[in-house]
Amino acid sequence: MAEQHYDLIAIGGGSGGLSVVERAASYGAHCALIESGRLGGTCVNAGCVPKKVMWYAAHLAHALDDAPGYGFRLDYFGFDWKKLKNARDSFVEKINEWYLDYLQNAGVELIRGSARFADAHTLEVNGTRYTADHIVIATGGRPQIPSLPGAEFGITSDGFFTLQTCPPRTVLAGSGYIAVELAGMLNALGSEVTLLVRKDQVLRPFDAMLREQLMERLREDGITVLTQTQVRAVARLARGALSLHCEGQASVLHTDALIWAIGREPNTDTLNLAAAGVAVQPNGIIPTDAYQNTNIPGIYAIGDVTERFHLTPVAIAAGRRLADRLSGGQPERRLPYENIPTVIFTHPPIGTVGLTEEEARRQYGDAVKIYQTRFRPMYHAFTTRQPPMVMKLVCAGPEEKIVGGHIIGENADEMLQGFAVAIRMGATKRDFDDTVAIHPTSAEELVTMR
Ligand code: FAD
Ligand code: NDP
Repeated sequence: MAEQHYDLIAIGGGSGGLSVVERAASYGAHCALIESGRLGGTCVNAGCVPKKVMWYAAHLAHALDDAPGYGFRLDYFGFDWKKLKNARDSFVEKINEWYLDYLQNAGVELIRGSARFADAHTLEVNGTRYTADHIVIATGGRPQIPSLPGAEFGITSDGFFTLQTCPPRTVLAGSGYIAVELAGMLNALGSEVTLLVRKDQVLRPFDAMLREQLMERLREDGITVLTQTQVRAVARLARGALSLHCEGQASVLHTDALIWAIGREPNTDTLNLAAAGVAVQPNGIIPTDAYQNTNIPGIYAIGDVTERFHLTPVAIAAGRRLADRLSGGQPERRLPYENIPTVIFTHPPIGTVGLTEEEARRQYGDAVKIYQTRFRPMYHAFTTRQPPMVMKLVCAGPEEKIVGGHIIGENADEMLQGFAVAIRMGATKRDFDDTVAIHPTSAEELVTMR
């Protein structure tokens, strides 16, 4: 077998893999990237990007509902799902092509195919062997499908992005990011949505205020939320409809589409990790230390194959910092995983960073002070819909250092970024109080809370 040698190879051309090779190449490292599918990975092809397009469409649908309150008289002729899908697909294809140039400009070689380890320094792709001083595993994950009779009649978020029309009725099973985001979009775009939550709340790892507010919003927007309810079997009926046999608040449900949104699993099963001796957890996750090192020197893992936050900017930051360390002469460079901000693109969106109130009380006991406000944003003074804005600051210690911030409401997504910088820098409540407000905005409430 022919063999080619590199300083660094990344397996996976998603957020993490693309970032690590581009940064390493900028330091002069000879790099290759192996990708079995489309460049850009989950985020570009079946995640953040097409999702945000659908979120914008849903946002517009809500704005159309709001417009008469501002004096607009509208003739509404419906929503053309297919037109938007075609535009969205073309947009994504342009990003795929953009990444080809990105690699070329960076001087990174693209190897098309599926990689597997032959040993700790050697990868095989389509019968060719490639060796490297450093190998970065960035193969991401895929949606989980439960093992129950008829589960294959359901689709996942991947299938959502291939839908040619809006299903008249949709059942979503799950309670995390994807379940609540897709529920909001499908509902706004005309589907009759039922959300099946197996425990008693959505978004359990998040602050209780966010969970409670979101449950209220989902229901107010017309989504049927059935808690303590799980699908046990699925059968196909005539004309493509599905019959779901459930346990909990419903026993039988009929729907046109069933979407599993019950979590994702890492793409590590086909890598032949055993040949390299790389340790892997029973759930396929690759354990790493704080520097993204696996148990085998010279092999690293970043992004969704690791345990921590499964978010695009996290995979990118971990990849870039790893390259800074391996090729950029910065031996201590790493990504600290505290205070990672995240947005959940619901309607309205959620922005959250740092500790939940519960976590803060566990960590700081009685030295926790909570500031919370709930108000109607001025935008909704004239609209039929009245979603409130709710904000919470979690402060700790006598200096009231802000250790958590949680916002649900219009524009929370855009508010969070600057706020996250302040929290990362160790801002206190006093720093917020001393910051002059911007009026009239909803964000000003963040610096005027009492
Ligand atoms: P990926 O982007 O998944 O890339 C892995 C790549 O590896 C893939 O291209 C795959 O084809 C390739 N690959 C796999 N196995 C092999 C192999 N053996 N050989 C060669 N190539 C291989 N995050 C956010 O921050 N914001 C959002 O709004 C957001 N929305 C999301 C919405 C959805 C519906 C989903 C599913 C995810 C969303 N995410 C979001 C999460 C985000 O997409 C991921 O955290 C991110 O893509 C992870 O990057 P990665 O590089 O680890 O993996
Ligand atoms: P999540 O991990 O967010 O949520 C899945 C939830 O589904 C679980 O927490 C669990 O909640 C529930 N669940 C698990 N198994 C079952 C089951 N068998 N039946 C019913 N419910 C079940 O996974 P997602 O798939 O929603 O998203 C994957 C990841 O992708 C996210 O964690 C996030 O990191 C990323 N993402 C980020 C987005 C963003 O940044 N805006 C958007 C979309 C995804 P419980 O235990 O409470 O029942």
